[in-house]
Parts: sequence; C-alpha cells; structure tokens
Amino acid sequence: MTSTRDAGKLWAVITAYLLLSITVAIATYQLSLRSGLDRLSQSGAVILEQSADRLIAQLESYREMTDLMSRHPQVAALIEGRSISAHTSEFLLRTALTTGAKELHVLDASGSVLASSTYEDPLNTIDKNWASRADIIAARSRRMGVFHSAADNGQRSYYFARSVLRDDGKPQGYVVVKVNMDELEAEWRIDETVVTFFDTAGVSFVSNRLALALRYDAALAIAPPDTFGYATEWLFPIPDHKKSRSGRHDIWTFTAQSEMPDNALVVSQDVPLIDMTARAFVDAQPAFSNARLLAALTAALLSLFGLGVAIFVQSRARMADQLRIEADLNIELEARVAKRNAQLQQAQDNLVQASKLTALGQMSAGISHELNQPLSAIQNYAANAKKLMERGREPEAHDNLTLISEQTQRMGRIIHNLRGFARKETEPLEKVNVADVLTASLSLAAQRAKSEGVEVIVDAVPDAWVDAGQVRLQQVIVNLLSNAMDAMADTPVKQIETTLSLHRGQVQLVVSDTGPGLADIERAFEPFYTTKEIGASKGLGLGLSISYGIIGSFGGLLSVENLETGGAAFTITLPALSTQEAAQ
Ligand code: ADP
Repeated sequence: MTSTRDAGKLWAVITAYLLLSITVAIATYQLSLRSGLDRLSQSGAVILEQSADRLIAQLESYREMTDLMSRHPQVAALIEGRSISAHTSEFLLRTALTTGAKELHVLDASGSVLASSTYEDPLNTIDKNWASRADIIAARSRRMGVFHSAADNGQRSYYFARSVLRDDGKPQGYVVVKVNMDELEAEWRIDETVVTFFDTAGVSFVSNRLALALRYDAALAIAPPDTFGYATEWLFPIPDHKKSRSGRHDIWTFTAQSEMPDNALVVSQDVPLIDMTARAFVDAQPAFSNARLLAALTAALLSLFGLGVAIFVQSRARMADQLRIEADLNIELEARVAKRNAQLQQAQDNLVQASKLTALGQMSAGISHELNQPLSAIQNYAANAKKLMERGREPEAHDNLTLISEQTQRMGRIIHNLRGFARKETEPLEKVNVADVLTASLSLAAQRAKSEGVEVIVDAVPDAWVDAGQVRLQQVIVNLLSNAMDAMADTPVKQIETTLSLHRGQVQLVVSDTGPGLADIERAFEPFYTTKEIGASKGLGLGLSISYGIIGSFGGLLSVENLETGGAAFTITLPALSTQEAAQ
C-alpha cells in the first residue's frame, strides 16, 4: 500500500520535472530564437539602408545629368529650331557613350521625340510621342519626372525626364535619360544577402539576384501591372514559400530549390525617394540553429541534473530501506534473544528446582541412613539389656545401656552437624593462635593417621594470631584432615602436609594430601555434594560447605585447588592480628 503510494508520488515528481524541463527548454529556444532574429533583423535593416543608398547614389548621377542636359545649348538650339535633329542626335549619342546612359532623347513641347541617341537604330524612337508617360507628365509641371518599365525581352529601364523651359517658364520641350538597370545591378551580384526593390505594382524591379528580377508579389501591389508597361504573362511569382511569424518577425520558408535561403527573415523598408519598397531576405538559419543548440544544451543539462538528483534520492532511499531492514532485523533479534533468555531462565529454574529436590532426597536418604543404624543398634542393645536384666545379669545389662547411651550420643552428633549447617553460629570471636589450634587438631587426628599409615608433615610458624572461634576453627581443620585421609584410603603414598605461614598480614594454613584430588572441584563447597557412599562415614556432603561458612564468619576464605603432582590442597586464609593486637 505504502510502496504503491510512494511509486505514485515518484512518478508524479518525475512527470512534473519532465514537464518543467520541457518548458524550460522551449522557453530557452524561444528566447534565444527571438534575440537571434532581433539581431538578424537589425543587420537586415542596415543592409537595406546601404543598398537603398547605393541605388539612389547610382541613379543620382543620371538625375543630375538630365538636369544639365535640359539646359544644354545644343538641346535648346534644336527645340528652338536653330539646329537640325541629326546634329543633336549625334551629340546625344556621344553623350550617352561617355556617361554610360542607355539612351538620351529630346522631345518637343507636345511630347514627340525630336532627336535620339538611338537614331541609327532601325527601331529608333524618333517621332514617337510620350506625352502620356508619367515622367513627361511630371516634367511638364517642372518637376524631375521619373519612370521605369520593362521591355518584352525583360530588360528593365529607369527614366528621368526634365522640361526645357522657355523664358516665360513654360516647357518648350523635354530631355529624357534612360538608364539600363540590368547593367546597374551587375556589380551587386556579390552581395551575400538577397535584396530586392519592389515597385508599387508589386514587381521586384531591382534585385541583387538576377533570378528574382520581375517577380510579382500581390501583397505589395497598389497599382496595376500595366502602370509600368508590364505584361502579366511574363511576371512570375516569388519562388514557392510558406510564410510564418516568429514574434514580430516574418519568416519565409522556401520549399523549392532557389537562390533564396531555406529560412529567410524578411525585413522591409520603404524607400520614398524612388517610391519603392526594399526587402532583404536574411538567412535565419543561424538563429534557428543557435536556438536549437541552446535548447538541446539546456535539456541535456537539466537531464543530467535530474539524473544526478534521481541517483542521489534513489541511493538515499536504498540506504533508508537498508537501515529499516536492519532495524527490523534488530527488533526481531532482540525479541528472539529475550524469548531465548526467558526459556533459559525457565530451564535454569527447573534445574534449580530439580537439584533442590535431588539434594533433599539425598539428604533425607543420608539422614535416615545415619539415624537408622544407631536406632537399630539401640533397639538391639535395649532388647539385649531387657533379656539380661530378666536373667539377672545386671553388669552385662549395664554395658548394653552404656552402648545405648553411646549410640544416642552419635545420633546427637549427627543432628548437631545438621543444625550447625542450618543455623548461624553466634559464638563471639576471640584471639586465637592458629598454630595452637593446628597442634590440637593434629593430635585429634593422630590416632587415625597412625592406624591408616598416613604420614603427617607439619611446617608451622609458632605465632599466627587471628580473630576466630577456637572450637569451630578446630572443627574445620579436623574436617580437612579427615577428608584428606578419606581421599587417600586407596593411595599407596599417604601423606598429609600442613603449612602455616604469615604473609602480608594474612595467616595461611594449607592442608594438602597425596590423594586423587577433587573429581568436581567446582562443586566442592556445595551443600550435600559428596562422592562417598551415603552412610559410609559421618559425612553427608555438608563438611566443606559448613567449613566454608565458618571461615567466612571469621572474615577469611577457604579455597581449594588440585595439585599438579596429584592430590588436593585446601587453604584457609584469615586476616592476621598484629603483634600489638595479639598482646592486648
Ligand atoms: P563428605 O566428606 O561427607 O563427602 P565434604 O563436604 O566434607 O562431605 O566433602 C565433599 C566431597 O569433597 C567429598 O565427598 C569428596 O568427594 C571431596 N573431597 C573433600 N576433601 C577431599 C580431598 N582431600 N581429596 C579428594 N576429594 C575430597
């Protein structure tokens, strides 16, 4: 459930980032394209201005020439009838050849050609009447008349017309200068940017690409084509193209192979001086390429950034998952450990319970065995005493009663032992010389040692004073000697060594033997731990644990170790009293 929701969230973030990246890339493309087109448009405008200036400058010289010619005496002489046409025509031809003008004509006041530089041409213009032409009409009102037209062969001409004025200021004739535009354009061909000048009929009259001359664009036509003598059948449209706008710029995409750039930014400018519209077709490809490159770069950078972020987020999520899994595992492990501990505790409790029951069983078996023996002896002695008394054998009966008394003493001792284990001694401590207690204990054990062939070696300092209970300390030492002799019952070498020493404020008494050592040394001081057959001796497995408690009550320690040479060594360590303390 959670992972589905997480996955959904992840997809939403990825989609949002993709949309954002696409938007940013598109915005980058558009901004870059717009600024690129702005720059191209500005340079297009500059090119147009330069081209217009160049055209106007080229035409200007012919305009001035027309002006000069209108005041030339040869022209005036012809118009005023002082010269003949042939002379003037000859003069016009020479002038045309030296100035580069295509043709020069002199017209009378009615607009008929009087003389022409083409006079030798069979198709010369002499006697033609041009009164209705726009340039002559303009010249009639004393302005500089201009006109342009194209011949059937596609040759384009530009005309200047000026009136030759009489003294009263009225036109008495006209001078017309014809300029060949094809020749004028020839030096423009090397221009990089395509520039075309459209007239008011929407026809490209001048262009730096020959193929674009006399192309027709209806969108620019405000006058009919025949205004300039164009025959519609030889006017071709501008090469195939699709128009679009990018911001405030016109983009023409040329579909057919032509001299035009594939993607052209169209910049237009009116040139009122020659009444034409100049158009530059600037190659817009660099702006598109730059914008595309910048957008692609932006997209690549955003993708890289997105990828980096995705990898970072992914690795963090993986790490978090890992940590979560580890935490889960830890919790599970802790639970298992706790469960195991509880099981162990339970098992231990069960074991303790079982060992308690075992100990109780052993103890009851031991006690009943120990007490049974004297009890059955007492029973026997009492029955014997009864019979002996019935028979009047008093002294023998007395002996039996003495034996009964001994057995009860033995029972008392057994019970005393048990009580000693159960209760805590409250007997007050006194100054005791361990050396004396050791001597007394050895003399108690001497009888048995002798009978069992045990050699007793004593190495003792004479004074080793401690705070203790004399009787209880003796009980412990006797118990250790007695255990040692029990252990050596089947050993060939029977030797007990007692060493009493004083060392660093401690009194140490070591009782070692040459027996087999302790079978289970860890359990030596455990109550009811015994390896002896129950009832075989006075022991119940309580001797060592009672001794341990007694030495502990003196502020000392009873410890045991198995000797490397074999045998066991018990050590009683007690805090020593200083000589002054001992003397007090
Ligand atoms: P008990 O003598 O009634 O068995 P103790 O507490 O005195 O009880 O001794 C416990 C056990 O310690 C003995 O049964 C015996 O196995 C072992 N033990 C005690 N002293 C020695 C010793 N010197 N050498 C070997 N084993 C000993």
